[in-house]
Amino acid sequence: MTSSVFDVVVIGAGAAGIAAGRRLADAGVNFVILEARSRVGGRAWTATKEGMPLDLGCGWLHSGDRNPWTKIAEAAGLTVDRTPAPWTSRRDISMSDAERREFDAAMERFNRRVAEAAKQGKDHPAADYLDPEDSWNGLIDAISSYANGAELDQISVLDWQNYADDNVNWRVLEGYGTAIGRYGSNLPFVLDCTVTLIDHSGRTIRAETSRGNFTAKAVIVALPTSVIATEIVRFSPPLPIKVESAAGLPLGLADKVMLAVERADDLPAETRLFGKIDRTATGAYHFRPFGRPIVEGFFGGRLARDLEEAGEAAFGQFAIDELAAHLGGDIRPRLRAIAVSAWHRDPFARGSYSHALPGKAGARATLADPVDDRLFFAGEACSLESFSTAHGAFETGVAAAEAVLKSRASSRQ
Ligand SMILES: Cc1cc2nc3c(=O)[nH]c(=O)nc-3n(C[C@H](O)[C@H](O)[C@H](O)COP(=O)(O)OP(=O)(O)OC[C@H]3O[C@@H](n4cnc5c(N)ncnc54)[C@H](O)[C@@H]3O)c2cc1C
Repeated sequence: MTSSVFDVVVIGAGAAGIAAGRRLADAGVNFVILEARSRVGGRAWTATKEGMPLDLGCGWLHSGDRNPWTKIAEAAGLTVDRTPAPWTSRRDISMSDAERREFDAAMERFNRRVAEAAKQGKDHPAADYLDPEDSWNGLIDAISSYANGAELDQISVLDWQNYADDNVNWRVLEGYGTAIGRYGSNLPFVLDCTVTLIDHSGRTIRAETSRGNFTAKAVIVALPTSVIATEIVRFSPPLPIKVESAAGLPLGLADKVMLAVERADDLPAETRLFGKIDRTATGAYHFRPFGRPIVEGFFGGRLARDLEEAGEAAFGQFAIDELAAHLGGDIRPRLRAIAVSAWHRDPFARGSYSHALPGKAGARATLADPVDDRLFFAGEACSLESFSTAHGAFETGVAAAEAVLKSRASSRQ
């Protein structure tokens, strides 16, 4: 086995690892980024199908007006589209105006109960705050399955309450994944390099990988919690506190199917449709994003898991059945699945984004805590209030790189 020596090794080339790498490069540090896949970006992934860049991972610049990726995308010459998201502009065609008002009121009442519980410092499953009499519970839970990748019985109210969102949601025309990948241009990546062990028992830290050993004075671990919790990547000596905190922050599941639509003009652009409004296991469909002849289907939680288990074709079939129930059977031959994600089956993600289990709201800070001032942690799950997002991942990556630089400066004094 070969061994390469660096000042810093970053593990994982997702949004967090790339952000850390860019900061280290700017500071002139000798470092390398180890990535298991043959591509960078991780859960940020734009696939080009039939000439269209389609985001199968992150798509929305949440909190776009303060999201660092907005400026980065524009500086790279990409186009930020500021059309409001269908869920904020109320362009939702699954319900009548009266139903929408009812649903909004039910959602608001539920959110108030959750906020009240969180204020009292109680950490319970968010499902405890559903009103058993409310007929909108199914859809409220569906919203959680999209936002958290998990139903409300799996969600810590304290963690959910910590999430900061200003309801500004923009997109990158060329793809969010494209923007994040471009930010990594010219960084020193080693691709197809799967890390299995981080040995921090000696004076330097050694990462054991499928491409030999990499040794450094400091390591930034920018991996998904799924990989740490299942000990696919192990620490030596073991770090049970990291394994336990990662297990408290599992990755929920969200998947997408992109349907090409023939003669799409009769579908209203930038609108949303829920397959059903009275149940949790239903898709959310975004019609003609950017005006393209596409319907983007979005599935969360247990439904996404079941569809992955049934095989990739199941996403398209399920989506077409739900759409035909609304739009009539004539729509069926006009719809064709051209891209599908399966993030749970993806061995380097094993899910979509992190949520804290009830009682585990404190796990994010524990996961993010450095070990011995030389083993640093980054990734969306380490963010206290922008978790589950690409901008949260960015911020934790920069923070980890800053912490490395600070520790290097103080060790030189
Ligand atoms: C369907 C979907 C929709 C989403 N929508 C949005 C959205 O609209 N807006 C938003 O902000 N966020 C969204 N997200 C979440 C966002 O994509 C993630 O939060 C963010 O990309 C995570 O970045 P990260 O760097 O923390 O982790 P990752 O991107 O997972 O990066 C970790 C890297 O580590 C690598 N790795 C794993 N195991 C190993 C190993 N053993 N050795 C070496 N490398 C390894 C992985 O391949 C990966 O590249 C979405 C995600 C999904 C899946």
